[in-house]
Amino acid sequence: MQHVLPSLPYRYAALTPTIDARTMTLHHDVHHVGYVTALNDILERVPELVGRTALWLLLHPDKIPKPVRTAVRNNAGGHINHSLFWRAMSPQGGGVPSGSLAKAIDRDFGSFEEFKDKFAAAGGKVFGSGWVWLVREYGRDAKLAIVTTAGHENPLEDGKYPILLNDVWEHAYYLGYESRRSQYLKEWWKLTDWNEASRRFEHMGDTAEDSWDVERESISG
Ligand code: MN
Repeated sequence: MQHVLPSLPYRYAALTPTIDARTMTLHHDVHHVGYVTALNDILERVPELVGRTALWLLLHPDKIPKPVRTAVRNNAGGHINHSLFWRAMSPQGGGVPSGSLAKAIDRDFGSFEEFKDKFAAAGGKVFGSGWVWLVREYGRDAKLAIVTTAGHENPLEDGKYPILLNDVWEHAYYLGYESRRSQYLKEWWKLTDWNEASRRFEHMGDTAEDSWDVERESISG
């Protein structure tokens, strides 16, 4: 088993009432573990990919045999995205960003309130299952941007580094919010871990691999 499900950094019930314990349990112990298990199962049949990290698998689709390419991408993406997502939230989350990230948000979106409105609006518009992200391109003068992805695609595949993300698959919110995704997106700001977002922003390097050093402890394999 090369790829391993990371533990949640808090208890299943720690994010209540914004996200209920049952949703967190199913999300982590059924959905996320499903991606990890499927990825390991596929790799058992493709020896040349054993030893490759989840990030490498995501960034090198051309090196993955065509019959398993889509499945590897979906499951490596599901594993990476959820590993990032658990740590984008905290029971002590909420509030406002600080430091250089706060300045960059003001510079690139006008204000923190405008950023939050745009992020939630973009998440609300994702058709079907996907993710909404705050990203930054590589390079010293790169600006922040909001992007959305379908399925378990990740902006890393498009040369952008994830600073913050929210899961808008129905499994992320349906027990608590039913079809009210926009309400979930608004309530979710109570959980946002701005320390984690700042850490990711400040440790960004010039490439995905450089930047990823800060993730290695939490994303195995
Ligand atoms: Mn999910």
